[in-house]
Amino acid sequence: MSHEAATQAAGPQKTVIRNIGLLLSGALENPILDADTVVAVDGRITGIGRAKDIDAEGATTIIDAKGCALAPGLIDSHVHPVAGDWTPRQSQLGWIDSNLNGGITTMISAGEVHTPGRPRDVIGLKALAISAQRQFANFRPSGVKVHAGAPCIEPEMTEQDFKDLADSGVKLLGEVGLGGVKDGPTARRMVAWARKYGIQSTIHTGGPSIPGSGLIDKDVVLEADTDVVGHINGGHTALPDKQIRCICEGCKRGLEIVHNGNERAALYALRTAIEMKELERVILGTDAPAGSGVQPLGILRMISMLSALGDLPAEKAICLATGNTARMRKLDCGLIETGRAADFVLMDTAQHSAGETLLESIRLGDLPGIGMVVIDGQVRCQRSRNTPPAKRVPTIEKS
Ligand SMILES: [Zn+2]
Repeated sequence: MSHEAATQAAGPQKTVIRNIGLLLSGALENPILDADTVVAVDGRITGIGRAKDIDAEGATTIIDAKGCALAPGLIDSHVHPVAGDWTPRQSQLGWIDSNLNGGITTMISAGEVHTPGRPRDVIGLKALAISAQRQFANFRPSGVKVHAGAPCIEPEMTEQDFKDLADSGVKLLGEVGLGGVKDGPTARRMVAWARKYGIQSTIHTGGPSIPGSGLIDKDVVLEADTDVVGHINGGHTALPDKQIRCICEGCKRGLEIVHNGNERAALYALRTAIEMKELERVILGTDAPAGSGVQPLGILRMISMLSALGDLPAEKAICLATGNTARMRKLDCGLIETGRAADFVLMDTAQHSAGETLLESIRLGDLPGIGMVVIDGQVRCQRSRNTPPAKRVPTIEKS
């Protein structure tokens, strides 16, 4: 009997997490919830509240959070996967599992561009995208949900190609600019075709990332009109501040800040979005694996950096990597809300942090300690092997 068949035969899987010390919702408009218990049935959140008001009857898994904070699992809006849990970019195995230990439960591909011998002809790039979409739909490394199959557009593509891709299950475009299309008018035409068929788009912003890639400046970004302005802080080389401001003010699209970018430009983009009162547009990614390597703690590091240096309350900084991304990317996770996927990260203040509380420690620039990661209601890792050790860690009371 398969694992799925076995769990179905055993009836509904009910996970109860109690004694949550701080419940972070992922929603900017209300980032802290007044609750200490979360219930999930068959991988979906069914209850959020105080223990005395929650129906814990029939729980198949009970987790005692021991006073730790619970937040939605973190979403990395910008990765470059290739095959399963292997990346040829830095000859590394297990990089996605390492990210799970950094609180990541969902990743979005910005193109499988590190595939050795990546095809550039139209039929070849379509085949690669469809294959990548299928591979990561069929296989989740360590449970992490990788949304992949993101072709990079080439000038020879026609509207029919976008329809074919959409009909085949492709929902994302890789970074515009990493394929042969680098000019505004062609990009705009193809991005519109993608949008017409329900394919979400992103663009490489800034100077070339590695020898062989090119510059995409504000004029191309604004003309292309992708759903997400990929790494607005450069990957790595950022545009001048006045161009970053032009992009923020010149469109209403998502503003993605990445770990593998210019940190000063990241803070400039954040401050511009705050000044415009449009923080809901800001989402976080790593752009890993890349020349800078794999960063299992990249999203946590962005949260701490933006909170500490960008003067952003920690509970809001966490929203940039959870609820903001989920809403922009139309994902069913990222928020602590009934009906959403039960993807959680449980964290506490790192041992010996100068911060008295988890939120204060992040505001001081420290990383939190992760004690458990849950995906679809199932515990996927306990005390993280990568973060500094948390003061408290949850325990599994029943499973
Ligand atoms: Zn890029």
